[in-house]
Amino acid sequence: MIAVHLPDGAIREVPSGTTPLEIANSISPRLAAASIAARIAPVTAAAVQSGAHGESQGESASEASMYATEDAAAPRLVDLSAPLTSDTRLELVKENDPDALKVLRHSSAHVLATAVLELFPETKLGHGPATDSGFFYDFYREKPFTPEDLAAIETKMAEVVARNEPFVREYEPREQALAEFERDGDFMKTHFVTKFTSPGDQVSFYRNGTFVDFCRGPHVPSTGRVKAFKVTSLAGAYWLGDEKNPQLQRVYGTAFFSQKDLDDHFARLEEAARRDHRVLGKQLDLFSIQDLAGPGLIFWHPKGAIIRKVMEDWMRDECLRRGYQLVYTPHVARINLWQTSGHEGFYAGNMFTPMELDDALYRLKPMNCPFHILIYKNSPKSYRDLPQRYAELGNVYRYERSGTMHGLLRVRGFTQDDAHIFCMPSQIESEVAACIDFAEAVLKTFGFSEFKVELSTWDPNDRAHYAGSDENWDLASRSLDNVLKAKGIAYKTIPGEAAFYGPKIDIKLVDVLGRLWQLSTVQFDFNLPARFELEYVGEDGERHQPVMVHRALFGSVERFFGVLIEHYAGAFPLWLAPVQIGLVPISEKHTAYAAKLEAELKAAGLRVESDARNEKMNSKIRDFAMQKTPYILVFGDKEESTGAVNVRTRGKQEQSTMPLANFIAKAKELVANQSTEL
Ligand SMILES: [Zn+2]
Ligand SMILES: [Zn+2]
Repeated sequence: MIAVHLPDGAIREVPSGTTPLEIANSISPRLAAASIAARIAPVTAAAVQSGAHGESQGESASEASMYATEDAAAPRLVDLSAPLTSDTRLELVKENDPDALKVLRHSSAHVLATAVLELFPETKLGHGPATDSGFFYDFYREKPFTPEDLAAIETKMAEVVARNEPFVREYEPREQALAEFERDGDFMKTHFVTKFTSPGDQVSFYRNGTFVDFCRGPHVPSTGRVKAFKVTSLAGAYWLGDEKNPQLQRVYGTAFFSQKDLDDHFARLEEAARRDHRVLGKQLDLFSIQDLAGPGLIFWHPKGAIIRKVMEDWMRDECLRRGYQLVYTPHVARINLWQTSGHEGFYAGNMFTPMELDDALYRLKPMNCPFHILIYKNSPKSYRDLPQRYAELGNVYRYERSGTMHGLLRVRGFTQDDAHIFCMPSQIESEVAACIDFAEAVLKTFGFSEFKVELSTWDPNDRAHYAGSDENWDLASRSLDNVLKAKGIAYKTIPGEAAFYGPKIDIKLVDVLGRLWQLSTVQFDFNLPARFELEYVGEDGERHQPVMVHRALFGSVERFFGVLIEHYAGAFPLWLAPVQIGLVPISEKHTAYAAKLEAELKAAGLRVESDARNEKMNSKIRDFAMQKTPYILVFGDKEESTGAVNVRTRGKQEQSTMPLANFIAKAKELVANQSTEL
């Protein structure tokens, strides 16, 4: 007999070999029918709470201890039909579990491969993992699949689903499996079995109907569970990424538990395409990337540049208000600097190649840190001078492989809202707290209400990969932990994910479509202060090494701008809109009044554009609306005689007529409050 511990605390004594499905059935057939897979963990492991895995938030302490345990003790997913053979914690995984979709999608990849082999038996199989948005399967076949083939594959998949074939796990001795794969010319399967199993192993397969795949699972109980799916696209990829190898065909698809979820997914994709910052950037004339200049280099057009100015002004003012000092540093430096900082060693592959000048080799800067360090080092510091907080909107250049650039999101030249804080270990906690406050202010001001926080810490068992003393690591990790807890911020701890030079906090904002964007980061550094031999004289009169914090809140100004464009779909709040007010005189008679309005609005600090073209009023209104201008003021004889304006507000049907002074007061207030309302 074995003891099975259920999430509600109940313990069931069952014969060894009992399956999760049998246990589910004994609880209720409805529960069994709703279950997809099972999550098991040895009873000896520390109590693992349901939900303390995957994307869940806010259980840092239990998570930290959970991830730190050995793999064997960690919860893992198994088939509902997997026999339980020792005392186990068991949780049935239902459709709403974050892991359930992965199991479904990987099972869908098997259904895809089943369909492909039935239609094109000569095809050789690669592998078919679940991805964040669906699944794919790699195939080798001399003739490329056509769009018609993909449609036929999707139809055949529906047949495989309708047959409701159980996924059955089978084992075979490794040598026998390898011999069969080699005999059949299954070069990819031969490779995977050789790589991921050891001589003498029993190799795991999954069968549905006549289709068999080398796989560790887990799977949904049967192909019938794959109800809502779609084959989405086809891409070429060289086997093992080597162009000397055969070219594979990667067929992509996605799957959900319901047709509604599938429909919602495609609606979201459509909405994301509508908000694509590259499309809107062109349509609203915000920025461009110029072929003659090179990829990944951003040209900010006047309308984008004015938004950038507003962003930068806000950021600089906030920095000053929060006790930072602004600095400016060069774009290039002698290679010696990058040798001292260590970038020449571990970061050279991400840097532009050196330029030879008469006195030395120079490199464009990929980071601002060493420059701020040189400013710190330029004069002696005492504990009274600390913390020193240097902020710069610094342009950096990083080498990204051609073909990997993406609009404003992945570029070769960008501007970091970078700051480096030099402080005493005793100041770590208050400095981090201030950074988190600042980061929250950035997100809130720019219109994001939701964010997720990750704390990356070191792995104390992997001492060799981390610079700095145990003492410093403990202090810094504990400080970060304390600050987040004190602020009541839910976060996820990720042990072993820290940079080699210190622990960090990453803040990912959630945009209007629910997408996560990694932007703000607060990182500790024990490494650079040592490499540059930074010092301060302590209260004790002795020399000490300061701790350094790197932090960027927009992250990259370019990337943040890209996210803003998509978040607002180009309809910026008034304070950010490049043109806040469009003026539409009804006829040429009103040109003088237009000039007067323009002058008064400009004098009030508002950004205004007057359309004096000899066009119909409606087409002028339409043009401003296409540019997503927040307010359009229309005026003719009536307005002119009373000193009023007719106001059309973006996104609203009703118009209103008001004295110009009232409109100006309202607009100025919205701008001053960085309001997202109009
Ligand atoms: Zn599988
Ligand atoms: Zn830095």
